[in-house]
Amino acid sequence: HITSTAARQQVNKRFLSHIERAVAEVLGIKQAKISLMASPAKHAAHPPADARESLFPDLAEEAPMPEAEESASSTPALAEALPVRAARMSNDSRRRTRPVRQYSAPAQTAPASNGAGALRPRPQEPQPPTGGYITNAGDTSWLNDRYTFANFIVGKANQFAYAACQAVADHPGHAYNPLFLYGGVGLGKTHLMHAIAHAVAPKGLRTLYITSETFTNEIVNAIRYRTTEEFRAKYRSVDVLLVDDVQFIAGKESTEEEFFHTFNALHEARKQIVMCSDRPPKEIDLAERLRSRFEWGLIADIQPPELETRLAILRTKAEESGKEIDDSVLAFLAEHAHTNVRVLEGLLTRVIAFANMQQQPVNIEMARQALYSITPAERPKRRISLGEILAAVSAYYKISLEDLRGKQRDKHIVMPRQVAMYLMRTDTQQSLMEIGMELGGRDHSTVMHGCDKIEQELKREGSQIAQDIEAIRQSLAG
Ligand code: ADP
Ligand code: MG
Repeated sequence: HITSTAARQQVNKRFLSHIERAVAEVLGIKQAKISLMASPAKHAAHPPADARESLFPDLAEEAPMPEAEESASSTPALAEALPVRAARMSNDSRRRTRPVRQYSAPAQTAPASNGAGALRPRPQEPQPPTGGYITNAGDTSWLNDRYTFANFIVGKANQFAYAACQAVADHPGHAYNPLFLYGGVGLGKTHLMHAIAHAVAPKGLRTLYITSETFTNEIVNAIRYRTTEEFRAKYRSVDVLLVDDVQFIAGKESTEEEFFHTFNALHEARKQIVMCSDRPPKEIDLAERLRSRFEWGLIADIQPPELETRLAILRTKAEESGKEIDDSVLAFLAEHAHTNVRVLEGLLTRVIAFANMQQQPVNIEMARQALYSITPAERPKRRISLGEILAAVSAYYKISLEDLRGKQRDKHIVMPRQVAMYLMRTDTQQSLMEIGMELGGRDHSTVMHGCDKIEQELKREGSQIAQDIEAIRQSLAG
């Protein structure tokens, strides 16, 4: 509430462009147009003498600015908007955004008589990070506490990256510098970066975790507001710099340039740099000098986890959830979600939600439902026909189509036949009856029995069948 025309003119003249810029930034729009209105008297019940001073110190001498009582309820809108900005900077909604709390709620911040103070963070509290998360020594509050080395399941596909990250965490600046991790979406890159930050925290090092998008925004702002010196000072004061999704700096000239200098300064000072990306340096469209620096240290790739690792990840998550979940359900999920751990976790969450909603124990049907309800982009690309599955099974086990369809009950034929049933049941939408027809006119109960058999078998530790099924699926996918 601006209570006089004079105040309005002053605010207009001196602050409007700043306010508009701040609002645009908070709302994530290009431009905000704000007009101020003076609404005198009505709200100004107890104008505290110092209100104008605390809101706009410079204005104190120039214009009367009594504070409205209701400002305590009107300023929260802005005060709440500020944390939104702090949260958005993290670029990662999965991380707990503690720094948000550094803006205190208006009611606590401001003395009852002075709602205006709500616009400022409490002076004695640390300022919110202007981007990324810079820690004071030992501070891990900004990290996702699930993303530790201990919680990372190691398998063939990620053990190299895991070991490299551990080495870096043990000897930051001295093991591999820079360390460059790359791998597809949802394979644990961010997890490992947080794990490094957790591990170095007790050493009393200053760590900065940042996405390259935030880095880019910061450099753009630094140039715009002529604060590049502060920007540089901030980046060069850290012991460990973690840059997530570094591929996004590609093609942004001034960002690449600034990153190049930051990189050199830190590297020369033997400070640790860790970057990750969805692709190796040579596939990122970067200026050559920057690319070559990315390749200086160690490059470690993370591949999609194999079936066993996926199962182990699911098992851990299932245990964490505290819900009793049969291994056959986990195996089913692990078999179907191939490349992305995040999707895998999402499926499990969904299955648990189904079970809770239906107030029933988790079963394989829920897993199937969860799988079919995932977005089309994540679904298997094409529909596989029963005939294709039969052919793939036949090729894999080297058993003729006639034998698979035939009546023979030899073990070496029965098992592949049941694998075919299982795959037809789980990977297509065909009915038991149709599957029975495809397999030489078998009864639907026979098919059901066959599927059960395989599901049982998948539960057994070290079962060969899980690998067979995986291989057949891959042949079908390829
Ligand atoms: P990325 O950054 O590579 O896209 P994230 O690090 O965000 O992937 O991982 C996605 C999710 O999968 C996170 O919840 C993470 O904890 C989990 N995750 C990925 N790999 C593993 C693993 N090997 N063990 C345990 N959890 C994992
Ligand atoms: Mg990530």
